[in-house]
Amino acid sequence: MGRHVVVVGAGIVGASVAYHAARAGAAVTLVDAGRPGAGVTADSFAWIGASGAISGPAAGIRATATEEYRRIEAELPGLPVTWSGSLSWRAEGGAPEAGPGQEIVDAATVVTLEPNLQRPPEWAVWAPGDGAVDAVGVTGRLVAGARDHGARVHLDAAVTAVRRDAAGRVAGVETAVEPVAGTAVVLAAGVATAALGASLGVRVPVEPSPCPLLRFRAPAGLVRTVVNTADFDLRQVAEDRLIAAADSPEQALAAVGSTFRGAGGVELLGTRLGVRPMPVDGEPIVGPVADVPGLYLAVMHSAVTLAPAVGRLVARELVDGIVEPALAGCRLDRF
Ligand SMILES: Cc1cc2nc3c(=O)[nH]c(=O)nc-3n(C[C@H](O)[C@H](O)[C@H](O)COP(=O)(O)OP(=O)(O)OC[C@H]3O[C@@H](n4cnc5c(N)ncnc54)[C@H](O)[C@@H]3O)c2cc1C
Repeated sequence: MGRHVVVVGAGIVGASVAYHAARAGAAVTLVDAGRPGAGVTADSFAWIGASGAISGPAAGIRATATEEYRRIEAELPGLPVTWSGSLSWRAEGGAPEAGPGQEIVDAATVVTLEPNLQRPPEWAVWAPGDGAVDAVGVTGRLVAGARDHGARVHLDAAVTAVRRDAAGRVAGVETAVEPVAGTAVVLAAGVATAALGASLGVRVPVEPSPCPLLRFRAPAGLVRTVVNTADFDLRQVAEDRLIAAADSPEQALAAVGSTFRGAGGVELLGTRLGVRPMPVDGEPIVGPVADVPGLYLAVMHSAVTLAPAVGRLVARELVDGIVEPALAGCRLDRF
């Protein structure tokens, strides 16, 4: 399928596919309507991990997420990753459940991990291997890595159509700037993937799912880990900055103030509404499209966590011609 792979979308997913496919020896052209990582990737909380036990068809891929980040960190020196671990708890709901690589810790352990908590929870889930990234930085590093392996990168070049030959096979894309030929086209265009699929008569059941990302000014060292509660996902991104994913800025600000000692002066600096590409069943859609030979889809939620693993698996399918068992539950034909 993939002698010459055209990847549409230079978000964290498309950048990872381009990097891994180029590294595996394919001729790769990465095309984006704007700049790398400027889609929803720029508005991500960017936690490598997830709350609760891991289940569903992509559970195997999710379970390898941190190990896959460790791999690309070794391949791409300077990757902006912070390995802080994550702490999750809920005020109600009974005993927490720990997944692979997670442990249940009591209040005495929680205070050693988050010393500024006003009232540490009785129990929490501690995932010591979790981390977080600068998602735009990782995307840029993947694009640079793809270039190092010979990929061409066309930016500010919106794809207007997928080209097909007389037999109906994909032959590349039309862009606002120039056509790009290819033997395989990967749609990794986030929320725009559904419209690009529809133009080929392919229904990609992905919906736009808005979620606010909040930025706060905060004292240095207030929050040490990735903290996940019913009120927010919260982490420190710089000495005097926190970010949070939360439904309501006002409630999140109040919750930060009541959760941490010394957080009285925390100030909301801004809110951005990120629009996540959300498959209707919440699971990734990754794989070839049977009705359009040469067309391949890579669209998912939690893509910051999954991008390194998915990129590697997609490259094996496109370039090495291997059908990856780990992607079996992620195919479009499940709908
Ligand atoms: C507030 C918030 C918190 C989040 N927290 C987490 C988290 O903690 N962990 C996690 O794993 N995930 C998280 N996510 C989700 C994660 O950010 C997304 O799953 C991920 O960024 C999606 O990446 P993508 O590459 O698919 O999409 P995008 O980053 O949107 O990339 C798609 C690219 O396609 C390009 N494009 C679109 N149409 C065209 C076209 N016609 N031609 C050419 N290019 C085109 C766009 O310009 C864009 O660059 C969060 C999201 C939000 C909003």
